[in-house]
Amino acid sequence: MDHELRREAAVLIETDLTGLPVLVVGPPGLTASVVRRHERAGAVVTVAPSPGDVTDEVCADARLAVLVGPGAGWASVRDALAGRCPVVVEVPDAPRGRVVLVGAGPGGPELLTLAGIRALAEADVVLTDRLAEVGDVARLAPGAEVVDVGKRPGHHAVPQDEIERIMVARARAGLTVVRLKGGDPYVFGRGGEEVAAAVEAGLPVTVVPGVSSAVGVPGSAGIPVTHRGVSHVFTVVSGHVPLEPEQARSLAGLGGTVVLLMGMHNIVPLTTALARAGLAADTPAAVVERGFTPDQRSIVGTLATLPDLAARARATSPSVIVVGEVVRQSAVWARRVGAGSADAPAMDGVA
Ligand code: SAH
Repeated sequence: MDHELRREAAVLIETDLTGLPVLVVGPPGLTASVVRRHERAGAVVTVAPSPGDVTDEVCADARLAVLVGPGAGWASVRDALAGRCPVVVEVPDAPRGRVVLVGAGPGGPELLTLAGIRALAEADVVLTDRLAEVGDVARLAPGAEVVDVGKRPGHHAVPQDEIERIMVARARAGLTVVRLKGGDPYVFGRGGEEVAAAVEAGLPVTVVPGVSSAVGVPGSAGIPVTHRGVSHVFTVVSGHVPLEPEQARSLAGLGGTVVLLMGMHNIVPLTTALARAGLAADTPAAVVERGFTPDQRSIVGTLATLPDLAARARATSPSVIVVGEVVRQSAVWARRVGAGSADAPAMDGVA
């Protein structure tokens, strides 16, 4: 009997339910995905978490009722609904929670992948972040609970272990949890830790890659991180803490492009360490600030001049710092202030 009814539910959901009042009865952990499926089909869904919530008033408009779960108390609900509308019982096999880490790219909805868009459309819960600026998350994930873990009133980010706790708890309740992260989840994004937390909790987890700011943001300023005959190596480094002299020597020794993320507050020690390690003071260098936003700026100079130029321009985070001859290939290099002028400091400028 239930089997028949479940088949009926599947058929119904493929039809257009636009405007149809649907009553979904069951505990939130089980009903969330049923609700979303019906809402996606256009239904106007009312949820009654327990049989006791199925009052006459709630029943009055329903054109279809979906009872979710084995439902020891379904008899009373069936009685209440008798003669009013078709009743369907859905018995989920087991909570099918899962976690999907989605790279949102470095800014704007255009840089989200198709796989990321699909994951969001299927999400019951989205845990989003300060740098995951994909625009209207509610539109991309209709009906999903959106939790901004990047900031709270008072601007404190939710601590990492709390993010992982929320992620695991929601997925364990049978929900599809999308963890939306700026850029690529595995580039300084603590993606590895979040995957480990999901695996440890026995939850299926997948990772949708994203466009990393490490490559995309320099590119948005016309700076290719590699360029034939100029640089065949690029190294992405966290500038969160200053470079150890040995690290700086290794980077300088590679002779390629150095891309520094999270480095604005350390721009002086970072550039100084690279210069001390042997990079020429006149190596082209740039700060690309707020890539892919209307406020995007590039500050272009050399290893020696960049910190001062960036300070004068009041450049702040988020910015990518690029050091290397590839900066010379860019349009912003050509447009830098003083370019081509004999008496101006030829290397310096804001484009
Ligand atoms: N996972 C992200 C990086 C997270 S670390 C990625 O793959 O892009 C955060 C740092 O990324 C910032 O401090 C900044 O250096 C850089 N960043 C991210 N988005 C940026 C943007 N739109 N413009 C400039 N820098 C950006």
